Amino acid sequence: MGERIDLLARIQVLENENQQLKQENKALKDKEIPKKLLKEISFDGGFVHKNNRCPKCKSIHYTESLCCATCGQRLDWGEEDE
Ligand SMILES: [Zn+2]
Repeated sequence: MGERIDLLARIQVLENENQQLKQENKALKDKEIPKKLLKEISFDGGFVHKNNRCPKCKSIHYTESLCCATCGQRLDWGEEDE
């Protein structure tokens, strides 16, 4: 009898783990989809600075990288609009 209950409990644990994994998987897939950087322009001592911010964690990127080093979000640098 006890074995059967143990098994049911085990299944329940696995179901929960499965749900968790599904959610994590979805979050990972979201990161795989490139998101456009948030462009902002600031003025400093007569110089114009163009900042590229990660759309997810808002960290500034100075060099073009495929994904954010901070949060892992894939980045879409798009075309330069001068
Ligand atoms: Zn980020």
